[in-house]
Amino acid sequence: MTDLTNAPVLVVGAGIMGAGIAQVAAQAGHPVWLHDTREGAAASAKAALAKTLQGLVDKGKLAADAAEAALACITPISALAEAAAARVVVEAIVENLEVKRGLFRDLEALLADDAILATNTSSISVTAIANGLRRPGRLVGMHFFNPVPLMKLVEVVSGLHTEPPVAEAIFTLSKAWGKVPVHAKSSPGFIVNRIARPYYAETLALLQEQAATPGVLDACLRGAAFRMGPCELMDLIGHDTNFAVTNSVYGAYFQDKRFGPSGVQRDLVDAGWLGRKNGRGFYTYP
Ligand code: NAD
Repeated sequence: MTDLTNAPVLVVGAGIMGAGIAQVAAQAGHPVWLHDTREGAAASAKAALAKTLQGLVDKGKLAADAAEAALACITPISALAEAAAARVVVEAIVENLEVKRGLFRDLEALLADDAILATNTSSISVTAIANGLRRPGRLVGMHFFNPVPLMKLVEVVSGLHTEPPVAEAIFTLSKAWGKVPVHAKSSPGFIVNRIARPYYAETLALLQEQAATPGVLDACLRGAAFRMGPCELMDLIGHDTNFAVTNSVYGAYFQDKRFGPSGVQRDLVDAGWLGRKNGRGFYTYP
């Protein structure tokens, strides 16, 4: 099995998830290259992380030298070629099969044959992403949860091509990063999103029927001992991503009504109200 202790890591996508994954890898001592096609995004993610880590230092939750060391591990890069020595890639870009496939084809041409290609997809078939690669057995799902530094679970998702030692290496790496990994098969939505989709669908149906407001729904579920209500959770996920995940799972279950998308989601995306990440979703954020 590939030993990934202190291995150089490439994180592609410096959005909500990629920034969190880079943080976790850096805090575990890995050199991390962070890349995003949006100009300046990787550098902004590093600057935001500097603030977050300083906040933890100020609260006495992190030693100043640990914060400094983690930050020094992260190098924003503008061209993937700068990370040719990466032994493991974690992809956290847009939830779109063709875009992910294109990226992995480029990465495969760039990286060593034994590099591990991990995708943080929430819902797209790992088998389908791997199809067409020269070494499809090197691709595996590494599905983190949001916010990455706080959420312990990682679904290690094997597609039909995934070589068992590759899944095992990512399982071990997740543990080394302080996570609690589980093995999952590449079925639509894997485990958590399979269960969560109907939960969001019922929430969105209540909103569509104007049977309850987001505030009431969130208060109800918080009152029922959920850490967050469903509307604030969808705002945290991002409605563009969540809508893409809904459509992906719906399609993969052959339009099973249980997993159907909602006009409420489409309206939010059409309006550009994507949630916390751009200041407005069901709620507004400073
Ligand atoms: P996001 O919109 O916050 O960030 C995605 C980033 O990828 C953007 O900065 C974008 O510029 C960049 N990008 C797009 N195409 C690219 C490319 N070809 N190369 C490099 N960068 C590219 O999205 P996110 O919420 O971080 O989601 C990323 C992935 O993680 C998706 O597959 C999503 O399904 C998955 N995921 C999201 C959550 C969540 O709660 N948001 C949870 C688990 C998994």
